[in-house]
Amino acid sequence: MTSVVSVENLTKRYGDITAVDGVSLEVRSGEVFGFLGPNGAGKTTTLRMLLGLVSPTSGRALVLGRAPGDPGALARVGALIEGPGLYPYLSGRSNLEIIARYAGVSRSAIAPALETVGLTDRADDKFAKYSLGMKQRLGVAAALLKDPELVILDEPTNGLDPQGMRDMRALVQNLGREGRTVILSSHLMSEVQQICSRVAVINNGRIVADAAVEELRGQSDLEVMAHPRD
Ligand code: ATP
Repeated sequence: MTSVVSVENLTKRYGDITAVDGVSLEVRSGEVFGFLGPNGAGKTTTLRMLLGLVSPTSGRALVLGRAPGDPGALARVGALIEGPGLYPYLSGRSNLEIIARYAGVSRSAIAPALETVGLTDRADDKFAKYSLGMKQRLGVAAALLKDPELVILDEPTNGLDPQGMRDMRALVQNLGREGRTVILSSHLMSEVQQICSRVAVINNGRIVADAAVEELRGQSDLEVMAHPRD
């Protein structure tokens, strides 16, 4: 299978802090790839490096065969990192219209994106009135406007109530069924076991396990982190 993301020995230091410490990963086309780790493990920093938002201290990453941040690659990647920065007093639809305009995407992409995330009926409500789960789903809709091959979602279920989590997980599964490659970061083993095909576990900036989800089935987060495979 083709590599959509290929990361070799990626490291990011902030002064004395090593946020990401020699991470190597391959994400293949069509995978729903779980990136699992506790708070502060280095997930967000790694994902930001894949998007070209943070420069690595050393190491190398290729996203869709190009350097992170390359416009040709970014045009094919949709991302939701740390919550969507959207306008509270505009409707969900108006927010997407603004994003589409800035991204140079046709307005015709808005209705299908709203439908995919299950917000068609609430599209004209103000963003401020949305539940956290709906806000996150609108953020995913924004990420989908470009019809991306790769979707990167950084802890999209964080802070959601049980129904919000179920809705978001179903949405992520659907993105995989549509044939998109998805990278989903999470701190919940049960979540990645439910919706991902493969998982890499990161702890203290290092990959401590990288396996098909079945291989880690039945293990808790702590067990996986305490018994690295390699
Ligand atoms: P969380 O789930 O809490 O977001 P994470 O796995 O995404 O955690 P990162 O946000 O990547 O982890 O952070 C990894 C480490 O790097 C943490 O110790 C964090 O404090 C540190 N760090 C991240 N960004 C910076 C920064 N800009 N300056 C200094 N330290 C940083």
